[in-house]
Amino acid sequence: MKNLKLASLETAKQTVVNVAGVKIGQDLAVIAGPCSVESEAQTLETAHAVKAAGADMLRGGAFKPRTSPYAFQGLGMGGLKILAKARQETGLPIVTEVIDPRDVSWVAEFADILQIGTRNMQNFSLLKEVGRAGKPVLLKRGMHSTLEEWLNCAEYILSEGNPDVILCERGIRTFEKYTRNTLDLSAVPAIKEMTHLPIIIDPTHSTGRLSLIAPMSLAAVAAGADGLLVEVHCNPQMAMCDADQALTPDMFTNMMQRLRPLRSFMDQLPLK
Ligand code: PEP
Ligand code: MN
Repeated sequence: MKNLKLASLETAKQTVVNVAGVKIGQDLAVIAGPCSVESEAQTLETAHAVKAAGADMLRGGAFKPRTSPYAFQGLGMGGLKILAKARQETGLPIVTEVIDPRDVSWVAEFADILQIGTRNMQNFSLLKEVGRAGKPVLLKRGMHSTLEEWLNCAEYILSEGNPDVILCERGIRTFEKYTRNTLDLSAVPAIKEMTHLPIIIDPTHSTGRLSLIAPMSLAAVAAGADGLLVEVHCNPQMAMCDADQALTPDMFTNMMQRLRPLRSFMDQLPLK
């Protein structure tokens, strides 16, 4: 792609983003946790459960980009403090979303990875700001964006001097209504033909259906994804956000018991 300088395969073969020993782009990185941080008890309980199931990192939103201004918007600074406590107790690095360029520098003091949500993929001032934040960035694909537009957004971050960008496919809008979005799994091998940046899959927001999360996660591993970002809640019926699509800790544990062996099997296959 002619516009890409730093993201193109001419620059590097494979970026490995090392977050406290978790090597995204080398090992399968599983990031799990609630959609949003609701309370200390909910976050800590979920954090311990995902850790026990073998997750590598904890996710949780303190700033929620909601469709309605009246919906729960997240706990903000209070949520970040809870995430810091969860990291302290479990040792899991924290992935959390930042939605406002003015918040980037102080959110970066709490986060191990700054998440840019689908709605902000092309928020160029936010991209420039996280490019200067000194923390790895998880860049979600815009729900109506092409791979080329997405990679140009990664280029915005890279060109500010931040080499640690992780791409996350989270589904795109199509005419299909059965799923919340359409998971574009072909993005995994396609992205690998275009860039050295790691790519992970979000099976939660893409499918929006509990029954599809494990099959699509396994399919993502088979397609060569570098990891997963998946929502887990200690008590999904009580979740303040995305209650219908959060895995219980038991469901997550069961999925993990199938994911890791699949990855090991894939690693043993002859190189193509
Ligand atoms: C999220 O992962 O918390 C989220 C809001 O996802 P998306 O930006 O993909 O909708
Ligand atoms: Mn969610």
